[in-house]
Amino acid sequence: MKIAIISDLHANREALEAVLAHLATQSVQRLFCLGDVVGYGAEPEFCVDLVRGHAEVCLLGNHDEALFGGASDFNTHARKAIEYTRSRMQPHWYSGSEKKARWKWIRSLQETHREGRFLFVHGSPRDPVREYVLATDGFLNPDKMRSIFSAFEGIALAGHTHQPGLHDESLTFHSLEGREALTMALPRGGKCFINVGSVGQPRDGDNRACYAILEDETITWHRVAYDYRSTMHKILDTGALAEVLARRLAVGK
Ligand code: ZN
Repeated sequence: MKIAIISDLHANREALEAVLAHLATQSVQRLFCLGDVVGYGAEPEFCVDLVRGHAEVCLLGNHDEALFGGASDFNTHARKAIEYTRSRMQPHWYSGSEKKARWKWIRSLQETHREGRFLFVHGSPRDPVREYVLATDGFLNPDKMRSIFSAFEGIALAGHTHQPGLHDESLTFHSLEGREALTMALPRGGKCFINVGSVGQPRDGDNRACYAILEDETITWHRVAYDYRSTMHKILDTGALAEVLARRLAVGK
C-alpha cells in the first residue's frame, strides 16, 4: 500500500501541479485528498478538476462546505474568498454541464473515509469538517487532545490546520522543522494523529507545498518548492481576494 495524501489545496494551481509532478516520481498507486480544494486562492476550478480526475477519495473541508452552508464564522478575508469562489463556480440554470457537474461534485463530498486501521478526516475525528487539532494542543490543551484520541482507533489522518506533523499517544507533537522530507514509523498496535500539511497554503514557516505518502508502517512528508510568485500575482490580479492571502504564501504563514 502506498497512498499519496494531499490536503488544503486552496485553489493554488502552481502548488498542486508541483506536488502532482513530485508524486509522479514516487511510484504511488493511489491519491486521497482531505478537503479544502477551494477557498483563499484564485483558481478553484482548475484544482477541483484535477482532484476530481485523479483522487480516489476526496473529503469535504470547511471551505468546500462554506460554498453551500455560508461562511458567517469565517474571518473577513476567508469569507470574501468564499464569495469570490461562489461567484465563479455556482451554476445558473443556463450554465453548461461542466460547471454544473463541478458544483455537484463539491456538494457530494464525504466527511470521513475509513480503510483498515486508518481514519481520514479534514479536521478531527470528533468533528470531521470543522474542528482544529493544533500542534500546541498536546501541552496547552491536554484534555481536548485526550478526548480526541479517545474518539478513534488506530491511525487518524487530517489536514485543516496547515501544520504538518504527528501527535503520538503521549500527546507529543513531532513537526518537520524545515526538513525537505521526514519519515516516521507508525505505532504497531497504538494510536497516532497525523496532519499531512497543506499543498496550497502552508503555515509552518516553510513556504514549500506539503503532502504525505502513507505506507503500511510509515508516513513520509514531502516539501515541494513551487512558483509561489505566480500564485501571488494571480491572487492580486483578481481584485477580489485580500492582499494578505498573496503575501502569506511567500513566508508560509
Ligand atoms: Zn484549509
